[in-house]
Amino acid sequence: MPPGSRSVAVVGGGFGGIAALVMLRRAGYQDVVAFEREPRIGGVWHANTYPGAACDVPSHFYEFSFAPNPHWSRRYAPQPEIQAYLEDVARRYGVLDSIRTGTEVTRAEWDEARDRWVLDTTAGRHEAEILVTACGQLSVPSVPPIPGLESFAGPAFHTARWRHDVDLAGRRVAVIGTGCSAIQVVPAIQPVAGHVDVYQRSPGWTFPKMDMEYSGRAQRLFERFPAVQRLDRAASLAFAEFGAAGMTRHRWLLKPMEAIARRRIARAIDDPELRRKVTPRDEIGCKRIMLTDEWYPTLTQPNVDVVTDRIDAVRPGGIRTVDGVERPADVLVLATGFKAHAFVAPMEIAGAGGRTLSEEWREVARAYLGLSVPGFPNMFLLYGPNTNGGSGSVIYTLEAGARHVVAALQEMDRAAARRIEVRREAADAFDRELRAALSKTVWHTGCTSWYVDERGNDPSQWPWLYTAYRRRTARLEPHAYELEA
Ligand code: NAP
Repeated sequence: MPPGSRSVAVVGGGFGGIAALVMLRRAGYQDVVAFEREPRIGGVWHANTYPGAACDVPSHFYEFSFAPNPHWSRRYAPQPEIQAYLEDVARRYGVLDSIRTGTEVTRAEWDEARDRWVLDTTAGRHEAEILVTACGQLSVPSVPPIPGLESFAGPAFHTARWRHDVDLAGRRVAVIGTGCSAIQVVPAIQPVAGHVDVYQRSPGWTFPKMDMEYSGRAQRLFERFPAVQRLDRAASLAFAEFGAAGMTRHRWLLKPMEAIARRRIARAIDDPELRRKVTPRDEIGCKRIMLTDEWYPTLTQPNVDVVTDRIDAVRPGGIRTVDGVERPADVLVLATGFKAHAFVAPMEIAGAGGRTLSEEWREVARAYLGLSVPGFPNMFLLYGPNTNGGSGSVIYTLEAGARHVVAALQEMDRAAARRIEVRREAADAFDRELRAALSKTVWHTGCTSWYVDERGNDPSQWPWLYTAYRRRTARLEPHAYELEA
């Protein structure tokens, strides 16, 4: 088989899918097609259009290393700019036409006899030798099983399904959840809403965001001197590595961050009761640290209440808490996060011998370097299990994963192989190493977060540095994979 002639099917048209398409094309693999169930590419950035939606990673770090954008309007770009950037990159790198939007892959099955994947899509069948999933970890909204939710009389929607047709002006809005989505949406809607009740189950630590506009002059500087932008990117990576080191091994590094976080609560909030409510009791970093300069000032506004009594039920006209109080609401916003452990769901994947990925992952989702699963030949997962860092840019991780896929295909070309599969011993050894490292991290110190499931399993986090992920995935370990000619 001539190098570069392999067919690849990519599932997902977000940052991961675009990274895979561009990097495979640049490596000479032309027969690459991606499927995106939404009518537009963008992934989470297409889905999350709630007021205030913006990135909480500096944009010079939250962009492809191969496509630096000197024209971000702010240090932390708002959602429409990120969506436009991704579409622009797809267009400029000539991959937009290779993405079949509005097409969902419902099932992928490994055809043992022909060494290829057979995909069932809403637009018919498709076959490819290599399957790359790039479905994200935060794409399926989580709707909590709160009694009476469906009985709510007014509009009720998740932050990732924002109803732009609902006018919030002067209305009573109930927001459930106080994670990264809520801390962006509440400050954005508070000035227009009549009243906002924020239902908080447990508070998270925040840290100064220090957002700023990039003036025309600054943008011209980045354009003329790309090294300045690269320097800024390197500084963001260094800060992310500092956070990763603190969260994974040297927890004392986080102590000064906690002191800063405590001080800003004290400075922003005079009311001791509100202070008490928003001060977390768990270690900083256990939940994702939220970057914001607006959260506490918003909570002190006269039209905002923070409700910490547990929700008993949603009623047609509002929310009743366990103390029997019912607070009226016209609109209900669920800022309740995502089914982060669903990974490729609802797509079903059947590997060798018909064994499905859900069966393989019955106990917990796991993959060698987050990328490959024994029994699932010629398949790679981007942003798969245990590839999420607590502090940096997922784009960095996605690029490292896509580079690994390219390395695997090149290895197959060299060996004239039709099939590549991670060895179970290698996957098991990696998993043992991973779990041992995870047990020492701050993520396992007893808070609730989307990283850890109800049974204490962690299929989300990467317990080492970002640069370690890049290094470990850069080439194929000689004994990790089995290639068959
Ligand atoms: P999240 O961090 O999982 O937060 C969900 C919130 O809903 C939590 O406060 C949770 O409370 C609460 N909740 C869940 N079920 C509940 C229930 N039954 N009753 C009451 N409260 C309930 O979700 P998210 O805010 O959407 O953020 C998810 C992730 O998306 C972030 O960590 C981040 O990685 C990403 N994100 C990124 C950006 C960005 O700027 N780049 C923006 C938004 C989101 P507990 O804390 O008690 O569980």
